[in-house]
Amino acid sequence: MIQIKDKSQCCGCTACASICPHDAITMQPDALGFLYPAVDVGKCVDCGLCEKVCAFNENYDTSLNMAQPDAYAARHKDMREVETSRSGAAFIAISDYVLEQGGVVYGVGYTDHFRVVHKRAISKEERDEFKGSKYVQSDLTGVFRQVKKDLKDGLTVLFSGTPCQTSGLNAYIGKKLRENLILVDIVCHGVPGPYVWRDYIAYLEKKQGSRISWVNFRDKQEYGWAAHHETFKFVNRGGVK
Ligand SMILES: Cc1cc2nc3c(=O)[nH]c(=O)nc-3n(C[C@H](O)[C@H](O)[C@H](O)COP(=O)(O)OP(=O)(O)OC[C@H]3O[C@@H](n4cnc5c(N)ncnc54)[C@H](O)[C@@H]3O)c2cc1C
Ligand code: SF4
Ligand code: SF4
Repeated sequence: MIQIKDKSQCCGCTACASICPHDAITMQPDALGFLYPAVDVGKCVDCGLCEKVCAFNENYDTSLNMAQPDAYAARHKDMREVETSRSGAAFIAISDYVLEQGGVVYGVGYTDHFRVVHKRAISKEERDEFKGSKYVQSDLTGVFRQVKKDLKDGLTVLFSGTPCQTSGLNAYIGKKLRENLILVDIVCHGVPGPYVWRDYIAYLEKKQGSRISWVNFRDKQEYGWAAHHETFKFVNRGGVK
């Protein structure tokens, strides 16, 4: 069974929890809110599937890797899309295509009070919530199983996330169902802890004496490309940088 002795060997992708046939694994937060697998030894039958699926396993299947990747640079033709995305809006262009073909798109949005989670979208309106980087580890609980169900139902699936999340999903899905799965991983140098984000929101709300109603981790429309400012709107006040 999977046991995390070194936290640098787990990205919280949930592949192990998703593959366990006995639902013996739950994802539990550490002090910063990063999620790690915890095994209920009473339910575990030591089948080894969770260890095998983990992308940090040295036997991780890389047979689909290209010897020499093809690299292209692209920017969306519509500057409104570029202004409202964090980078060049390639995600919007690729996901538009998938949705127009009747596929589904997975990406990162919010639930509860700006808790960062992966979600499923079947329309452009739903997908638009995924625009823009949320600089926090997203919660993937239940999502990999939903992706597998969509693929088994014959849908084309675009899943976007950090490279460690797409590696985990790739291993969990396996080769048989890979044909209709499009993986889009973002350039990423690491995700901040969910509890840092949660506590920062609470701090700002206390300071401003008002609840936050809108968040932008990097407001290009207001501050341009070079600046890296989080912007917030409060229920009783205007925007705050
Ligand atoms: C945690 C994090 C770290 C990053 N680090 C770098 C970096 O080091 N260098 C750099 O050049 N760019 C970095 N980026 C920016 C990222 O590479 C661009 O957003 C990406 O290139 C997509 O650009 P876009 O304009 O097509 O879409 P955008 O509108 O910028 O982003 C939307 C896409 O990002 C995904 N996404 C948003 N938040 C998250 C999240 N928390 N976890 C997983 N996926 C998420 C959405 O699902 C969607 O696919 C980072 C982004 C994040 C979220
Ligand atoms: S499969 Fe994912 S969540 Fe499970 S131990 Fe490996 S990296 Fe961590
Ligand atoms: S070894 Fe098998 S039963 Fe035990 S936690 Fe891992 S996947 Fe589940």
